[in-house]
Amino acid sequence: MLFLGPPGSGKGTMAARLSALLGIPHVSTGDLFRENINKQTPLGMKVKKTLDSGGLVSDEITVEILRTRLGLNDAIRGFILDGFPRTIHQADSLSKIDNIDHAIELRCTREVLIRRLTGRRSCPVCRRIYHVDSMPSLVENICDDDGAQLYTRKDDNLESVNRRLALYEKETRPLSDWYGAKGLLRFVNGSREADVVFEEIREIVDI
Ligand code: AMP
Repeated sequence: MLFLGPPGSGKGTMAARLSALLGIPHVSTGDLFRENINKQTPLGMKVKKTLDSGGLVSDEITVEILRTRLGLNDAIRGFILDGFPRTIHQADSLSKIDNIDHAIELRCTREVLIRRLTGRRSCPVCRRIYHVDSMPSLVENICDDDGAQLYTRKDDNLESVNRRLALYEKETRPLSDWYGAKGLLRFVNGSREADVVFEEIREIVDI
């Protein structure tokens, strides 16, 4: 299954919860790129500037990293995509790689998105996502699960956030019609509390 929705709509949080419940991998192309950047691989060096500025990596590179990830054994029983596809070209490529059973679009007001993104903190080890006000860690800036120091993503500043939201409208919004036409799309109001959103998603996917 896959999540659509602008940055900050809760795709990562919901995908992680579903992944734990279903025992299938949470595949985030953003995380895959960040891993490569941290390890300073040739791919990481190539995409670093694009990620920092909030632009989109080319479809060619993105589809390839996704294809490789979905080829690993743990994805045989299924997977949850977060942040892919982001363009019609990517959706088209995905349809040639595997079948999708559910597409869930998380909808949020712009005000909520900006508040969430600018207060977001992430764990570099387990990828758990926190928010300084609405989902704080027990000890400030320390992950509850593994004790790692939380960090603020470089692209979670107002300038990059505005760029990412504009790109979402231009490049990714058309995917609603794409998956809607296939009868796969369901909308969920993602502005609400995480527990409430998650319950609605569970009902939709019937788990
Ligand atoms: P995310 O963690 O999903 O917010 O992604 C962080 C950044 O990674 C995005 O702003 C893009 O620069 C890049 N990225 C992630 N997924 C994609 C994708 N499907 N297509 C193009 N760029 C992507």
